[in-house]
Amino acid sequence: MNGKKVYLDHAATTPLDPRVFAAMSPYFEEHYGNPSSVHTFGQKAEAAVESARETVAMILNCKPKEILFTSCGSESDNLALRGAALAQRETNNRKWVLVAPVEHHAVTHTAEQLAELHDFQLEWLPTDKFGRVTDKALQQAICDDTAIVSVMYANNEIGSINDLAALAELCRQKNIPFHSDAVQGAAYLSTNVQTLNVDLMALGAHKFYGPKGVGALYVREGMKLHPSQTGGGQEFGLRAGTHNVPYIVGFAEALRITQEEAEQHNTHMQALRDRIIDQVLETIPDSKLTGHRTERLPNHTSFVFKGVDGNALLMMLDVEGFACSSGSACKTGDPEPSDVLTSMGYDREWALGSLRITVGRHTTDEDVESFLNTLPVLMERSRTLEAV
Ligand SMILES: *Cc1c(COP(=O)(O)O)cnc(C)c1O
Repeated sequence: MNGKKVYLDHAATTPLDPRVFAAMSPYFEEHYGNPSSVHTFGQKAEAAVESARETVAMILNCKPKEILFTSCGSESDNLALRGAALAQRETNNRKWVLVAPVEHHAVTHTAEQLAELHDFQLEWLPTDKFGRVTDKALQQAICDDTAIVSVMYANNEIGSINDLAALAELCRQKNIPFHSDAVQGAAYLSTNVQTLNVDLMALGAHKFYGPKGVGALYVREGMKLHPSQTGGGQEFGLRAGTHNVPYIVGFAEALRITQEEAEQHNTHMQALRDRIIDQVLETIPDSKLTGHRTERLPNHTSFVFKGVDGNALLMMLDVEGFACSSGSACKTGDPEPSDVLTSMGYDREWALGSLRITVGRHTTDEDVESFLNTLPVLMERSRTLEAV
């Protein structure tokens, strides 16, 4: 190791694009007005928020008034699920909430709270062996009493991509609101809400080289939501609080650049991804890829290794200069195997040895080469440690 740090955890967060920072910076310094104020300072800030909304709407192929800005992807998921479930109960007394156990905790924990605190019925959607919800499984689960269905676009832990258009169509036929957590997917895949056919879709800027602490929620026209936060009338009365102008500007600019450059970056990342997958499976005994081999995010690799302590492995990798993750970032330091892997049927012996390597725009062939040279050595050491 030559002392260079190699960041291979882009599913946890990405660095801020300097072009995004440059777009944000005037709204910290010169244009500090409150968008709700009447004077020129306020107008300047309001114009920036509305221009950001138009940019996002254009990329998502929807109307500007269908875009809400929030503080993060988690908040968008909360507003979508809780907001839609409560509104559905009010209008038609529906009571079932359907989510898969492989969803991000922003979705699963919100669904659990709806059941515990608000008397909804929670049904866990089964997944296939790649952690995807099939249309057959959804077809069997939905009924006239379903208040909301939530299926993520792409999985943060195992990279698998769901066929949203097909799932959403089943819900559309029965007039059931369909939400998708696209926080991971939006960084790499098409975000056209008309072809994806979703009613609600959550995004977060820091997964696509934007700032942390800002998100958006697409809400199809006519969808009823209960506000998540009450107060001022911002964001169509659904999300009170003075707009975070520089971050909203940064969100739009980061999404614009991401979509514009997607092909170039995805091609680069996918080559690195495929090299990691092939070589890890070939050189490391008792290793398995988690998630789908091809229907997965272009930058995403994830594995389980039998009889390995995933957290110990992460620490050894860190010492050697490689930043990776075992499952989701929230799990670090947690000795329990991931809920996602457990729900997919991996037993403890495999699930505790999980490793996620997610490359980014700036990852080089040399970074991957040196990672692939280091991993087998550490794996050997880790397995020897386990044995004594
Ligand atoms: C990161 C992530 C979230 C949470 O987004 P924040 O902006 O960090 O709150 C939700 N869902 C998925 C799939 C994610 O990857």
